[in-house]
Amino acid sequence: MGIKRIERKPGFWERTYLPAIVKGLRLTARHFFRNFFIHLLHQLGLAQHLRGGETFQYPEERRPLSSRLRTLHRLTRREDGSPRCVACMMCESVCPARCIYIVAGEHPNPQIEKYPVRFDIDLGLCVFCGFCIEACPEDAIRMDTGILEFSSYSREGMVYDLDKLLSLSPAPLRSERAAGTDDPANFEMSPENTSEKGL
Ligand code: SF4
Ligand code: SF4
Repeated sequence: MGIKRIERKPGFWERTYLPAIVKGLRLTARHFFRNFFIHLLHQLGLAQHLRGGETFQYPEERRPLSSRLRTLHRLTRREDGSPRCVACMMCESVCPARCIYIVAGEHPNPQIEKYPVRFDIDLGLCVFCGFCIEACPEDAIRMDTGILEFSSYSREGMVYDLDKLLSLSPAPLRSERAAGTDDPANFEMSPENTSEKGL
């Protein structure tokens, strides 16, 4: 089957970019004046049902995140502090990005068959699908740290190992701090996770 090429030549006005500029300015002005008047009315105690645009002064101010948001992984521990992971490889098998690498070892406790000698997640490859969480039979891996900002100057720096994954803690839920609100439980970014862990 042949390909039919359709040549489209821009007209005079299109080549001046003026209609596109006017369109952009009109849109910006509409949002500006709408938000300006809504916030003005709010200051006067009126039109509280209307929601004006909000600006978060990032990074000092963090946007509240949904509790369902999948954030940086962490590995959970047993009561004795050892990893809950039994190195069953379910997460490694289900991972579509093939970014989990586990080396299993014999656990000294006969009740627990195996434990992870090595557990790496290459976050440079991870697509944050959450399949690893769903597949885990031990609730050993979670994506509830509330951490979204992590980066590295090297590819190796994006590989998080067992110790690093075990050192992370869950983000406090907003609902836990403000019990009684019907606001859907939101994560607060956890400063102890983001700064003290050196992420
Ligand atoms: S979130 Fe998805 S891509 Fe990332 S490690 Fe888990 S299964 Fe793999
Ligand atoms: S994290 Fe869960 S699914 Fe992955 S190896 Fe450990 S126990 Fe199995």
